[in-house]
Amino acid sequence: MSEAVVKTSDVVVVGAGPVGLVLAYLLGRRGLSVTVLERNEAIVTELRASTFHPPTLDLLEGVGISLVEQGLVSPTWQVRDHASGDAAVFDMAILGDETGHPYRLQCEQHKLSHTVLAAIEAGLPNVEVLFDKPVAAVFQDANGAVARCEDGESVRGTYLVGCDGARSLVRAAIGQTLTGKTYPETMILATTRFDFAAAMPNLSNVNYVWTSHPDLTETFSLLRVPGRWRASLYPLPGESEEEALSTASIERKMQAVFPRDEPYEVLERRAYRIHQRIVERYYEGRIVLCGDSAHVNSPSGGMGLNGGVHDAFCLAEKLPDLVAGAGPELLERYQRQRRPIAEEQILKQADANRARMRETDPTRRRALLDELKAIAADPRRLKERLLTTSMIAGLRQSNAVA
Ligand SMILES: Cc1cc2nc3c(=O)[nH]c(=O)nc-3n(C[C@H](O)[C@H](O)[C@H](O)COP(=O)(O)OP(=O)(O)OC[C@H]3O[C@@H](n4cnc5c(N)ncnc54)[C@H](O)[C@@H]3O)c2cc1C
Repeated sequence: MSEAVVKTSDVVVVGAGPVGLVLAYLLGRRGLSVTVLERNEAIVTELRASTFHPPTLDLLEGVGISLVEQGLVSPTWQVRDHASGDAAVFDMAILGDETGHPYRLQCEQHKLSHTVLAAIEAGLPNVEVLFDKPVAAVFQDANGAVARCEDGESVRGTYLVGCDGARSLVRAAIGQTLTGKTYPETMILATTRFDFAAAMPNLSNVNYVWTSHPDLTETFSLLRVPGRWRASLYPLPGESEEEALSTASIERKMQAVFPRDEPYEVLERRAYRIHQRIVERYYEGRIVLCGDSAHVNSPSGGMGLNGGVHDAFCLAEKLPDLVAGAGPELLERYQRQRRPIAEEQILKQADANRARMRETDPTRRRALLDELKAIAADPRRLKERLLTTSMIAGLRQSNAVA
């Protein structure tokens, strides 16, 4: 490599999303020098992930990062019939002997990023996070890897980790592609300060809802974060994405969710395509993938970011030894630990959640709801189900891989 290297670190992380920042923080705590290169000028604050699952909160707390004060402690979540309000309510208190956080924390993902960045800036001078530093290319040789930035500067590391999200440039550089499927529907996210919980009886902070209302498609979800609610809506048949994002369309759908005299104040609106995709290989030589760069899934169940944070903890255990000269079998173990969980647990669960909520047949819906209610009412089945949906079982499975 004949790059003009301006800086050398043990590890270069491309992307200061939540996964890249958590990884950099963990590596910094282990005494490695880390450079994080981020394209944007600051942490992105758009509303994406809003749910933190128990084992993620346990892991973060173990390294001094607590988000609980910044979010909503949400012990229940539910699957609900819109017209009747009948719901299967899953109470996570039953996980009290399995986790220090027997609830979902409803909290915007940028709060994790900001908290971790503040912890880095306050206590880890060996970690440098450079914003406004888009990476244009990455290369590797036998001894390390280099990120070349768009400004012509290059940073070299003994290892380089691509935490650069679903459109990862690092992934492409190691010849990997996200294979799988893209779902036909576009998700329209709309946030409002209107308090649905005060208006609709027995709502949880996380609600997956079946509906037959003509102004809505078969399903929507209502998720609460501090001070606001996020509705996930879908375009009606024949409605373009642009039309579905219009004030008139969102207003019509919000009125269908809960009719009121006043129009809804919509604070943020955004359209998302939803994918279920994963790479074959999580690393090549000295370049590794972590988080959305390696796997993307439907937001249903709130597992994408949580899975990425679990990747980061798994990889952070190995990089100090790798930097010190350990062989590639450690990265092979990372691959064996994390890829099957992403594929068999996270992607499959998210896919099943999505499919269940897209059911339109009233008889099938009734049967599904009755079955979910039966699970929620049976402590043994409830616990088993919640260990899976809360990602505790997946993380334990990953940790048990030799
Ligand atoms: C609507 C929606 C709802 C969701 N809800 C949940 C949820 O409730 N729970 C959950 O667990 N997950 C959820 N997710 C998924 C979650 O948002 C992602 O899994 C998470 O953002 C992945 O984090 P990341 O750090 O891997 O990637 P990203 O957050 O995408 O961060 C990647 C970073 O890399 C930077 N970057 C990219 N390319 C370059 C480059 N060439 N040079 C420098 N920097 C670069 C980007 O600017 C970005 O800052 C949701 C996603 C969506 C869209």
